[in-house]
Amino acid sequence: MSIRITPHILSVIDWTKPLSDPVRRQFIPLKSSFVKDHPKLQLDSLNETGDSPTPGLVHRYRDKALFLAVSVCPVYCRFCTRSYSVGGPTEELSNKRSFSPTRRRWERMFEYIERTPQLSDIVVSGGDSYYVPPEHLSSITERLLSIPHIRRIRIASKGLAVCPSRILTPEDAWTQAIIDISATARRLGKSVALHTHFNHPAEMTWITRLAAQKLYEEGVVVRNQTVLLRGVNDNAETMGLLIRMLADNNIMPYYVYQGDMVSGVEDLRTPLSTILEIERHIRGSIAGFATPNFVVDLPGGGGKRLAASYDTYDRSTGLSTYIIPGKNGGKDRVYEYHDPL
Ligand code: SF4
Repeated sequence: MSIRITPHILSVIDWTKPLSDPVRRQFIPLKSSFVKDHPKLQLDSLNETGDSPTPGLVHRYRDKALFLAVSVCPVYCRFCTRSYSVGGPTEELSNKRSFSPTRRRWERMFEYIERTPQLSDIVVSGGDSYYVPPEHLSSITERLLSIPHIRRIRIASKGLAVCPSRILTPEDAWTQAIIDISATARRLGKSVALHTHFNHPAEMTWITRLAAQKLYEEGVVVRNQTVLLRGVNDNAETMGLLIRMLADNNIMPYYVYQGDMVSGVEDLRTPLSTILEIERHIRGSIAGFATPNFVVDLPGGGGKRLAASYDTYDRSTGLSTYIIPGKNGGKDRVYEYHDPL
C-alpha cells in the first residue's frame, strides 16, 4: 500500500514509543519488521475479481453485493484486503485495478443490481465512502433505495475512526447526507447503516465520542468491523476494552476478522488460535448483543465463517479447513486458512 494518514491518526500515535505503537503499526511500515510472505498469500486473497459480474460489483453471497464506488481512502491500512485496487501505485505494485468514480461504471453496476432480484442488501464501499462526494453518495443510495428488492444498504467508511472532526463540522455536507439517507430509508421501511472500522482503543478520543454521539442523536445506525492484527489488538484485554468502548458509544461491535491472507503484511497476521482464544475470553463476559462475531473471511471467496466453525485445525502445521455448502445445489467445497509460518 502507499502511505496516507490523517492528522487525527498522527495525533493518537504515541511518538515516545513509535516502534511498538499499535496505531503506527497499522499505517506506517518499518522495513525491520517485514516478514517473508507465506507462499499461499495473494494480492486479491478473497478472489473479489472472480466474483465480479461487472467491474467494481462483487456478488458472492446470494442476497448481498458490494458496490465499490471509489478506490481512495482518507488513510491507507497496510493490511487492506483490497490492496489490489485501493490507493496509488507503489514500487511493488504499479498496476492496481482501481475503480474510478464514473457514472458510466456505476450505471453498469446499478443495471446488474436491478436485474438480480435475489439481491436485498448492498454495501457501498471502496476505498472509503468518505471520498464519495455527498451529492454522489445521495444519488447512489437514492437509486438503490428506489429498487424494490433492495431492503438494506450499508455505507462503509473508516471516517469516524480516522477523521471524526469532519462529522462535527456543521458546514460539511457528507454527514448531513448520511443523516438524510438514513431518515429516507426509515420512511421507506428500509435500512441504512454506517459501517466503520476501529482496531484499537487509542483510536477513540474525546472528539470521536462527540462525533459518535452526534450520529446516535441523529438516528444513524453505526456498526464496527475490527481486524485482528499482531501487535495491535491480539490479546483479550485490548480487544475487550475496544469492544466495550464501542458499545458505550452506541457503535455496534459487529465483526472481528481474522487477518486476511493478503500479500505483503505477514508481520500483522496472527494464527487462528489467537482469535479462538480471544473469543473464548470475551464471549460471556459482555452482553450478547454487544459481542461481535469472530470470523474468518475465507481465502478464495468462501465468504465469512465463524472462526470456531472450522472442520479441521492442525496447530502444528497451521492449516485450518472450513467446509462450505455448494452454491445452487452444487458440491460442498473445502476452503483453507493458513497461519503465518
Ligand atoms: S480504509 Fe478500508 S478500504 Fe481503505 S485502506 Fe483501510 S481497510 Fe482498505
